[in-house]
Amino acid sequence: MPHHVVILGGSYGGIAAMRRLSKYPEIQVTLIEQHPYHFLQTEGYELISSNTSFEETIVSLLALCANYDNVTFRHSTVASIESPQKVILLSDGELPYDTLIIALGSVTKLFKYDDNVYNYSSGAKSLRGALRLNGIILLCTFRHL
Ligand SMILES: Cc1cc2nc3c(=O)[nH]c(=O)nc-3n(C[C@H](O)[C@H](O)[C@H](O)COP(=O)(O)OP(=O)(O)OC[C@H]3O[C@@H](n4cnc5c(N)ncnc54)[C@H](O)[C@@H]3O)c2cc1C
Repeated sequence: MPHHVVILGGSYGGIAAMRRLSKYPEIQVTLIEQHPYHFLQTEGYELISSNTSFEETIVSLLALCANYDNVTFRHSTVASIESPQKVILLSDGELPYDTLIIALGSVTKLFKYDDNVYNYSSGAKSLRGALRLNGIILLCTFRHL
């Protein structure tokens, strides 16, 4: 059985690890991500300001992983890590691992001290958040035309 490396999170960190490990055919890699795509956050401001389309800011993880013989993509959400048993509990089952790489990022905290700030704020880390910000800007622009 090849050594099985599971990578949690298919963004910059997880993809960098996956690409590095893909050079070692004796290793089997599974990349797990809750979205079927990688959102290019570095293009986020362009998306928010309507200077690019959302298709230009995402990369299909299935297509990306298909470029590597020893890499499998699994579109799933991580529920918990059972480290004593070396098993990941997922929204659609479980997955054993030999080595685990955690690249799950961080969560944006929005402080609810002011309703206006809260209602017109959004994180830009996710595609949904960036699209929401783009919508707010377009709405404000049209209101002032
Ligand atoms: C608008 C914007 C522009 C930026 N521009 C730059 C730049 O120009 N240069 C630069 O160096 N940095 C930039 N950054 C910062 C950079 O994007 C982050 O440092 C980087 O995304 C961190 O990568 P990561 O892989 O550690 O985490 P993340 O990108 O946060 O990825 C974590 C991944 O884990 C997934 N995930 C989380 N929980 C689960 C779960 N339970 N199950 C399955 N999957 C899960 C998420 O969906 C996500 O894909 C920018 C950030 C933003 C928001």
